[in-house]
Amino acid sequence: MAVRPIVIWPDPRLREATRPIAEVTDEIRSLYRDLVDTMYAYDGVGIAAIQIGVPVRMFLVDAAIAGQGDAGSGGERGADPLAFINPEVLAMSGEKEKADEGCLSFPGIYVPIERPRRARVRAMGIDGKTFEAAGEGLFARAMLHEHDHLTGKLLVDFVGPLKKRQIKRKLERHVEDADGHVHGEDCQHDHDHDHEHGQAHGVALPASRSGA
Ligand SMILES: [Zn+2]
Repeated sequence: MAVRPIVIWPDPRLREATRPIAEVTDEIRSLYRDLVDTMYAYDGVGIAAIQIGVPVRMFLVDAAIAGQGDAGSGGERGADPLAFINPEVLAMSGEKEKADEGCLSFPGIYVPIERPRRARVRAMGIDGKTFEAAGEGLFARAMLHEHDHLTGKLLVDFVGPLKKRQIKRKLERHVEDADGHVHGEDCQHDHDHDHEHGQAHGVALPASRSGA
């Protein structure tokens, strides 16, 4: 029940090995609530526990993206994000799709990534029960993006060395900004890395929200 700081790349904690979760305890339920609060605070559509520095095998996907919230058809309005605990990718389509992807650990960065159009994932829910989710389009992309976090795979692993250096420079500037610099009209540096509210962080979305 708290917004926790997001671990920003190149922080090495994003590459830590993740541990499976044996059972859904009060501690895990409390972690889930922190992840929900943090994901919403940063306008994300998904988040992995490792992104707030907890290296366990758990991620969340926004209910609307998962077809269970108000953006879906007939879903419950404002449904809680879907928790995936110890997720396992069971199947992916051969058919692929390329789209710009963002990540809460890479604020303001978008990378075109080709991924399977459909994916089926089995996981334990926050109720402790095993379920399977079959996703298409953005839902599949969000699940696969979050699943990558559990194996330490990140956006920068999809780009070449030059682009990777560019992203690093941009994020180092972002961290400096977080230390208290306020952009003014006289700023000489480019500041397209934040303040762009038309396109928030994340997995590319038609509207203003994204990030994962
Ligand atoms: Zn991410």
